[in-house]
Amino acid sequence: MNPIVILVLIIFVLIFLKWLFGKEKKSQRKLILSRVRRNVYQRCNGRCVWCKKPIEYKDAQMDHIIPFSKGGTDDENNLQVMCERCNKSKGDRDRPKHHKSLIYIPWWIKALGILFVIIVIYSMLRK
Ligand SMILES: [Zn+2]
Repeated sequence: MNPIVILVLIIFVLIFLKWLFGKEKKSQRKLILSRVRRNVYQRCNGRCVWCKKPIEYKDAQMDHIIPFSKGGTDDENNLQVMCERCNKSKGDRDRPKHHKSLIYIPWWIKALGILFVIIVIYSMLRK
């Protein structure tokens, strides 16, 4: 078997493992969020932080004070309670900005980039 083929296979296995790992991380995030939810609701006295309207626990929406795209976390201190209406209007305003600032690079383009670098290094070492 050609060593380059083996290298390519190893890289794709690594990318696949990373993809699996990333998915696991996302589901963990949701678990933390549901556990922290009640504390955040209590801290905000069950009221929307914007319009101060009392909200039922089941209708309360968690809003990130520092958005994920700017390095915010799911930490209790970064969350606040917001009613559906306020959360929606805030979201609508923030979304176009986020889309502009985020440059989305598909994972397979990154994979091809890594692959290219490895092939170049390999061919250099062979000489
Ligand atoms: Zn509100």
